[in-house]
Amino acid sequence: MERNVADQVSAVVIGAGQAGLAAGFHLRRAGVDFVILDAQTEPGGAWTRGWDSLRLFSPARHSSLPGRPMPPFRADDGYPTAGHVVDYLADYEKRYDLPIIRPARVREVRPDGERLRVVSDAGEWSARFVLSATGTWWRPFIPAVPGTFGGRQSHTAGYRGPAEFAGARVVVVGGGNSGAQIAADLAASAEVLWATRRAPRYLPDHIDGRALFDVATRRKQALDKGEADDAGVAGLGDIVAVPPVRQARDRGLLVARPMFARLDDTGPVWADGTREAVDAIIWCTGFRPALSHLTPLRLRTENGHIATVGTRAVDEPRLHLLGYGDWTGPASATLIGVGPTARAAAREVADSLGS
Ligand SMILES: Cc1cc2nc3c(=O)[nH]c(=O)nc-3n(C[C@H](O)[C@H](O)[C@H](O)COP(=O)(O)OP(=O)(O)OC[C@H]3O[C@@H](n4cnc5c(N)ncnc54)[C@H](O)[C@@H]3O)c2cc1C
Repeated sequence: MERNVADQVSAVVIGAGQAGLAAGFHLRRAGVDFVILDAQTEPGGAWTRGWDSLRLFSPARHSSLPGRPMPPFRADDGYPTAGHVVDYLADYEKRYDLPIIRPARVREVRPDGERLRVVSDAGEWSARFVLSATGTWWRPFIPAVPGTFGGRQSHTAGYRGPAEFAGARVVVVGGGNSGAQIAADLAASAEVLWATRRAPRYLPDHIDGRALFDVATRRKQALDKGEADDAGVAGLGDIVAVPPVRQARDRGLLVARPMFARLDDTGPVWADGTREAVDAIIWCTGFRPALSHLTPLRLRTENGHIATVGTRAVDEPRLHLLGYGDWTGPASATLIGVGPTARAAAREVADSLGS
């Protein structure tokens, strides 16, 4: 779709992953006219990029967006695959007939008098409010490590499955969920060396996404009341023991070593001089919020986060940020957690518009 004249809408949502869809659901309910612009050609957001064995942290019944429960994954309500989530999100946007335009990558959002101008590959929109819900998957983070490795390097974001590493010696870097899940995934077919900055911290086996949401919510409430910070989910551990991780751990396949100090041509070198020759390194070292489209707004950032009150940007009250992590709402980067923050943002937008 090619358009030159900016359409006027009350709100533009950028991104049609789980956060953008939750925003759409609540904006519709609040009577706000809006459009959702999504860079992808297909529904599903980051879940379209997951690897074959990727599993949700919790059963379907605890992984739903507002309004419509996720159908059970299997008769036993097992932990859903990424494909199951994509099907659910595709069905969700169809069921609520959300006004999504794709592909429409937003290049920039800039001030335009009383309004914000949203410039995308599919044309321009002029909006009273922008809700940015672009996720983090699109900005993989790899820490700086001295030295140069001559073998193959990739990141969680590019991992598809164990087949391409069959028979190889592989270093998996990172003690979070993706590091543990990918190390477990590779353990049967590759020789895995797992390097983590600190010893892996598994959450108790009974804890799933539902419990994580409750913990994150309690932490937010405590902080709002000025009580001490118990570190929330981070205080409990780093790795949700989803079944494949639990099985690999219990079979003794997930043995971590400390993080190496540098790289040489053949592989990692530890501080004591120990070195390992490997074929590949997979960096499971996280993501950063995908916010480059907001650069023209010149907002204050700290650690890559924009200062917010709730979801609203402190320095640009016409901008809301959704789904990027706890800094945009408790557990807001999860299916179960994004609903309440999306509702609050839609409410604020509607109140400002007088809808
Ligand atoms: C190993 C692992 C396990 C996880 N397990 C769970 C789990 O069990 N439960 C759970 O709830 N979450 C889980 N997550 C988190 C979840 O995958 C993400 O947090 C979630 O996909 C974020 O949703 P989102 O809508 O914020 O972003 P995304 O899903 O990334 O959607 C953002 C959308 O915005 C689009 N976009 C980006 N930039 C632009 C732009 N400039 N213009 C227009 N469109 C743009 C993208 O194309 C995409 O469609 C897990 C993540 C990992 C890595």
